[in-house]
Amino acid sequence: MTVINIALVGFGKIAKDQHVPSIGKSEAFHLAATVSRHGTMEGVPAHRDLASLIADQPEVTAVALCTPPQVRYALAREALEAGLDVLLEKPPGATLAEVEDLIALARDRGRVLFATWHSRFAAGVPATKAWLAEREIQRGSITWREDVRRWHPGQTWIWQAGGLGVFDPGINALSILTEILPQSAHLTGADLEFPSNQETPIAARLSFLSGGAPIEVDFDFRQEGPQTWAMNFETNDGVLTLADGGATVSAAGQSLSEGDALASEYDGIYARFARLLAGRESEVDLSPLIHVADAFMLGRRLITDPFVE
Ligand code: NAP
Repeated sequence: MTVINIALVGFGKIAKDQHVPSIGKSEAFHLAATVSRHGTMEGVPAHRDLASLIADQPEVTAVALCTPPQVRYALAREALEAGLDVLLEKPPGATLAEVEDLIALARDRGRVLFATWHSRFAAGVPATKAWLAEREIQRGSITWREDVRRWHPGQTWIWQAGGLGVFDPGINALSILTEILPQSAHLTGADLEFPSNQETPIAARLSFLSGGAPIEVDFDFRQEGPQTWAMNFETNDGVLTLADGGATVSAAGQSLSEGDALASEYDGIYARFARLLAGRESEVDLSPLIHVADAFMLGRRLITDPFVE
């Protein structure tokens, strides 16, 4: 097997915590470079921008873009135009149209574009999907509540337009929802709470319908104490509960999965990327981002207390 030389572009929390270890474990990839204005890794060639990577390391054929979403489109375009295959962190872009543009560019250039949704690789997601496929959902609820000060310290981009605010973690729940539902869902209403001093919401309540069943969603960045990333589905054959971001699942009183949150998600992402590269196939599913765009379009905007980190 030819090992793929990959570079990490944007060397912040997720690149260091998850991409580096998963690339290290993968037989398909070799971490050949980092591209970052500040971050470096011992023993790995470092570049301050993509142009320098492209000029100096022609052996690199793929990049994983781990920057905030607001700057991802320009980097992805530059990489695809230079003939690189591209993995996008979630969300794949700051707008739907820019991702459509990247899909077309990747197709035109014969490059692989992989828009990742890491939560879909959580241990319990396949079992949840299979269990729900054989049952009728009567109602669902999603609670994704975390402390922004604990999980996103110093990440000012989250509060700037395009950074999604509470939808940054919330879109992970929507990526699971769009994967596991037997029937598609659409938004019927939303309330978005914006701190008076920020450009993105700190909390959101969404209502969906899927095959006639209501699904209520509660996203909140102000959760102190225990953190909650959970879903419940009442069906004609018992209740399914997914917890720990998709790692732990029980249905009708039986355990379907007990894993570690985030632990194996990125190993799964790199295994999938290797398969896509081997088959020269792209994979981009916009459905989680469509729901977020719908929430901004249909949602009522409520102003709440200023947020100061
Ligand atoms: P982060 O810690 O703030 O890192 C982002 C990196 O992007 C920084 O190291 C920065 O590197 C680079 N960057 C380039 N242009 C930037 C700009 N204009 N503003 C800020 N940074 C810029 O963020 P992160 O948590 O790694 O998140 C990055 C992406 O991964 C987000 O889309 C997020 O949703 C996703 N993600 C995060 C997590 C998580 O748990 N944190 C989990 C899954 C996915 P330089 O300044 O050195 O260039």
